[in-house]
Amino acid sequence: MADYTKMWSELGLDLKSHDALLSILGSAYGDIFLSQKDRPEGMKYFDFVMSEVHGLRIQELMEAKARGRIVVGSYCVFVPEELILAVDGVSVGLCAGAEFNFEGAEEVLPRNTCALIKSAFGFKFGKVCPYLEACDVVVGENTCDGKKKAYEILGPLVTDLYVIDLHQTKSDMGRALLKEEYRRFAAKLESVSGKKITPDSLKKGIEVVNAKRMAVKRLAAIRAADPAPISGLDALLVNQVFFYDDPVRFTHSVNQLCDELEERVKQGIGVFAQGTTRVIVSGCPMAVPNWKLPMLIESSNAVIVGEESCVGERGTRWLTEFRGETEEDLLDALTERYFSIDCAVFTPNPSRVDYVKEMTKKLNAQGVIHYSLQFCQPHMVESGPVEKELEKSGIPTLRLETDYSQEDAGQLKTRIEAFVERLENK
Ligand code: SF4
Ligand code: SF4
Repeated sequence: MADYTKMWSELGLDLKSHDALLSILGSAYGDIFLSQKDRPEGMKYFDFVMSEVHGLRIQELMEAKARGRIVVGSYCVFVPEELILAVDGVSVGLCAGAEFNFEGAEEVLPRNTCALIKSAFGFKFGKVCPYLEACDVVVGENTCDGKKKAYEILGPLVTDLYVIDLHQTKSDMGRALLKEEYRRFAAKLESVSGKKITPDSLKKGIEVVNAKRMAVKRLAAIRAADPAPISGLDALLVNQVFFYDDPVRFTHSVNQLCDELEERVKQGIGVFAQGTTRVIVSGCPMAVPNWKLPMLIESSNAVIVGEESCVGERGTRWLTEFRGETEEDLLDALTERYFSIDCAVFTPNPSRVDYVKEMTKKLNAQGVIHYSLQFCQPHMVESGPVEKELEKSGIPTLRLETDYSQEDAGQLKTRIEAFVERLENK
């Protein structure tokens, strides 16, 4: 990696802590990803992106800003990248997946806050996230109670925090609220960027994001093959890079990877032996570098063939369907697309478990591992009914709760191995 010290200093990062973080990340990446056997050649691009995730990509963001583009950071898949692109902005994901500076986070947040929220604060107070520091606007959203209250504390700590209000039910009023909130967000983006959203710019934004989602959907479908042509870890990584990379370049790279994987499928080449136990992981999103659970699963004689999560199919399975050419038509289409997302924050939320069942069938999985972050009430509460419904439908389910620490790794592995054995004997 080139020397980015000047850029990181100008962004106000704590260089010592940042170096320490990068060194831990680099070695974890080597141990977890680069040690895998028979990885597709196409993963080299994603290895490169990860090696430059705080370097070249940040340099690109800074160059974009110098050319007058705004950088917009967000923590949730309800923030529409399409609108950001419509003002020629750059969208970046800010969710963090590492236990870093939780002591700092716990000075302002209760200890029993989920690791995802604590991590975002730990990164902010520790001054180690160049994405957050590069943002012109940080977008929050009223989803779970933890996040919506945490944004009140985050507000004064960032340049410009903007919060999108979200519905809680899938009602007509909920849909109307979402549309009005997207209209309000569009006005905010216009005011910060100084650029007007036009039907053409919005249509182009939708096309770019649809193409990106289509590429990831293509990857998801290929994973139905046995032997699995790609590991769950690598597929998760692609879904994680989705939130950071330039969207057009990302789409091209995922499609290239898919060309290679389709060829592998034709030739019967896999990264795990044919007949390896196949599982779906469902639940909370896994932000970079939260790779603990997939690593434990894939070192326990099982392969992950799908993720029902916001860093996975919940974030990518719907496309925006054009219904007309006016700005109002496009806003309606966008609202409809995002209104379909079945996050556990909604009540009731029956479509989520229906989709887990569908995924299990279409990806030829034998079981589901439900993953909740500790203290994530929406997913933890929903995990009970989800397990009950899946088991009733003949789909063995293992419910796990964990955080970002490594302390429970041994205990989790024992439970995963026992579950895989149950699936093998089914
Ligand atoms: S799990 Fe819910 S709150 Fe979290 S990113 Fe997904 S939609 Fe947003
Ligand atoms: S993991 Fe759960 S508690 Fe944490 S931010 Fe997401 S929805 Fe909220």
